[in-house]
Amino acid sequence: MINIPKGTKDVLPADAYKWQYVEGVARETAKLYNLKEIRTPVFEHTELFLRGVGDTTDIVTKEMYTFRDKGDRSITLKPEGTAGAARSFIENGLGNGVLPAKMYYITPAFRYERPQAGRLREFHQFGVEVFGAKGADADAEVISLADSLLKRLGLKVKLRINSIGCPSCRAAYNKALKEYFAPHLDGLCYDCKARFEKNPLRLLDCKEEECRKINAQAPSILDYLCPECAEHFEALKAYLALAGIEYEIDPRIVRGLDYYTRTVFEFVSDDIGAQGTVCGGGRYDGLIGELGGAPAPAVGFAAGIERLLLVMESTGVKIPEEEKPLVYFAGMDAECRKKAFALTIALRHAGIYAETDHMERSIKAQFKYADKIGAKYVAVIGGNELQEGAMNVKCMASSESEKVDFSSAAEYFRKKKGE
Ligand code: ATP
Ligand code: MG
Repeated sequence: MINIPKGTKDVLPADAYKWQYVEGVARETAKLYNLKEIRTPVFEHTELFLRGVGDTTDIVTKEMYTFRDKGDRSITLKPEGTAGAARSFIENGLGNGVLPAKMYYITPAFRYERPQAGRLREFHQFGVEVFGAKGADADAEVISLADSLLKRLGLKVKLRINSIGCPSCRAAYNKALKEYFAPHLDGLCYDCKARFEKNPLRLLDCKEEECRKINAQAPSILDYLCPECAEHFEALKAYLALAGIEYEIDPRIVRGLDYYTRTVFEFVSDDIGAQGTVCGGGRYDGLIGELGGAPAPAVGFAAGIERLLLVMESTGVKIPEEEKPLVYFAGMDAECRKKAFALTIALRHAGIYAETDHMERSIKAQFKYADKIGAKYVAVIGGNELQEGAMNVKCMASSESEKVDFSSAAEYFRKKKGE
């Protein structure tokens, strides 16, 4: 027996409707905001993520699924969706088209992490990217999209925002961070010691208890913003107010990826513990240039679909039930089952959700099965019915029956479907 790889999960047929629901609401919300879908490959050249995610991030230093293909190229399974979308934006010259370029994706993502609730090695993201708009209204737009999605799904989450400035204000801030952390170096974890040298901002993102305690007193980036970044952050707050979105300012949010500039944000649920961040995003004006494109501003977010489902489940959000078959065709004997089969196929051609027996069940067992799958009507065909050319249609809820000619079955059920 071969088992599923650690940190991965099957979505079983009985549960798939939950995924379809969440993905459907995500697609609908994206449409309301005038976004189009982008699909990029599941694997890319490793170099894309080294440059596009950043070589001091947890993703790049520890979590990537990287391998050599048969042509000896270094290939990596996408650990997130932004780098691929950005590559595609550049490669396809989308910057020369209508701007802003607003797009979304639904994609699997792969990270070699320690599996736990809400933390998998293959997980799925709904993500949004808006390329080409530099104003804070674009940031507020993507935050509002995330907010709409979460509300439509019935989630109660808090929005936390921050600004991590631009490279120029961050230079001064990094210096201040280094001065603050230098006397605490011994108390920091192994990873943070490396972060201290390479990218002090990353220190604030550490999840280790000891490091978090030290982080609590660290200087705030908001005190180091240059006038332009400070103005952008003020504008964001004003646009969020216009959108009627509540938020908290949290100067500790820096986000996991290296390429963020200015706005960063997270939507957090208090209901699933440590993995409560259902959605994270921000602005990354440096990314397109970093990947070799003509510099273009960008802002976006990604939400983890497993985490959305987890929070929905733990807070008792009801997911609309799946549609049930309208009619089940039951046959008394082998001959009648053939007629049932033919009618089932004919009705499906007419757009009716229909089912019949494939297990040579007795008529009693067929009724039981029809009930189990929630069929609204059971059409019974016995020897008499075959001769008459009409079947007995029973409504499962009212137990009332009526005779319906085989020849008018499609019309009959099309009417029932509309009721
Ligand atoms: P975390 O702090 O939880 O590790 P992150 O900063 O690594 O999150 P992002 O890279 O911003 O996460 O990814 C966006 C979203 O994808 C997260 O908010 C989360 O909902 C989801 N996500 C990230 N990693 C995983 C994972 N290993 N398993 C399931 N969902 C994940
Ligand atoms: Mg992570």
